[in-house]
Amino acid sequence: MKCKVCGGKAVISLRAYNIALCANDFVSFLENRVFKTIKKYRLIDDNDKLIIAVSGGKDSLSLWYILNKLGFNADGMYIDLGIEGYSALSLEKVKKMSDILKRPVYIFHLNNALGKDIEAISKKIKRTTCSACGMIKRYIMNRVCLDKNYNVIITGHNLDDETSALMGNLLYWKEEYLWKKGMVLNEEEGHLSKKIKPLFLCSEREMAAYAVLCGIDYIYDECPFSIGAKSLIYKEILNRIEDNSPGTKLQFLKGYLKFASQTKVEKNHKEMNYCINCGYPTRSDKCNFCRIMDKYGIKGNIVFEEYRNTDEVSG
Ligand code: SF4
Ligand code: ZN
Repeated sequence: MKCKVCGGKAVISLRAYNIALCANDFVSFLENRVFKTIKKYRLIDDNDKLIIAVSGGKDSLSLWYILNKLGFNADGMYIDLGIEGYSALSLEKVKKMSDILKRPVYIFHLNNALGKDIEAISKKIKRTTCSACGMIKRYIMNRVCLDKNYNVIITGHNLDDETSALMGNLLYWKEEYLWKKGMVLNEEEGHLSKKIKPLFLCSEREMAAYAVLCGIDYIYDECPFSIGAKSLIYKEILNRIEDNSPGTKLQFLKGYLKFASQTKVEKNHKEMNYCINCGYPTRSDKCNFCRIMDKYGIKGNIVFEEYRNTDEVSG
């Protein structure tokens, strides 16, 4: 197998694009893909202040690395869910990348802030662990932007994450998510920080190859609560389809984006307020997070630990 660009020995074959590439050309290909996605979908403006939510996994750490390499200076944020073994190890990987990039990372320790880990909180508020986690993450990601003056939050969701979520939304006809295009580009209405996913056209396999080729030290284990998640089943099914017809995932997602952009969505005309507890934008007097915490008597203090390499550069 020869590299399509230089004729050297190829290390990866990308059937969706009908090409094979050597290590160097694959790394450039992937970085270029991220750059083009940002430009084509106008994900980042010149004056944006960027912060990336990193989990310690291959996608978010690679994306943080790529963005800074491409000149999009992004700081990091990490949510420590207090999961034994897993959280401490992922935080280690995050700090390592923060040192390499010389960019600060804001760390939210759930245990310190709310006195409980994610499992205990989910039991207390009577939700599944992942549902409680999603709610808390959304809130904390916006809070770090509000508190530390960032206006764009970046996540490392890749093509496989987005197509499996799209499949789930289609199977259950979750209309509230389907027509908003927000699943991928997440256009929030004012007030809340913009959320972008620059890897939405890069597959899981490509990201794993990129991380290995660039020597990115990431946590291999998945969160223990992801075991049995429906999204994993959808990913498996989509991979089987992709194996049979390379390029299907890309077409599925691009087609969806085109379709969703032509679909008119009813705007919520209810006026925006600010939460009387925490100042977070909401359409009622208290934000969802504060309402749930109050209802179940969970008290806490939302603070971020700032970790930074001493030779940090700013910009
Ligand atoms: Fe949170 Fe883990 Fe569930 Fe993901 S799998 S939503 S990180 S608890
Ligand atoms: Zn609030």
